[in-house]
Amino acid sequence: MSTAPVATVPAPRTLPKSVALHRPAELVYADCDETTGIVAFTAASHHRPGQRNTVSLDTYTGATFCDCKASQTGGLYWHRCWVVAAWQKHQAVAEARALTNGALLRFGMKHGRLVETYRQRIGRVGEYDAVRLLAARWEYRQRRAIAATPLAA
Ligand SMILES: [Zn+2]
Repeated sequence: MSTAPVATVPAPRTLPKSVALHRPAELVYADCDETTGIVAFTAASHHRPGQRNTVSLDTYTGATFCDCKASQTGGLYWHRCWVVAAWQKHQAVAEARALTNGALLRFGMKHGRLVETYRQRIGRVGEYDAVRLLAARWEYRQRRAIAATPLAA
């Protein structure tokens, strides 16, 4: 696992037209995996009516993935462009963002303990705690990256 600070996914130089035609709210949170740091969202498929595409964000590295036709052929579609914004709007990230540094540390440790407890006792992890643990780690990395950014002269 990389320890490099992740502020945001670098914006591509040329955004696809689809970015202007869609909004982050069209990406619906699906689930997360606290062991990989990946959060997944879905969006209605443009090419396969009635089905949904899954777009994911690696909250540790900032890498994005999608199973849509555009991504599979090497293109960039609005899904991957908006997935960071969709994650930033998730309730767990909003909760973490509102905390002081000390409260953020306690929030992350609390949900980390709960994740570990559930894993040991029932062999799986509660979604509520897992997504809040990832949100706490994300917010911590955001703050660390900002703190490491030199001030402009
Ligand atoms: Zn896609």
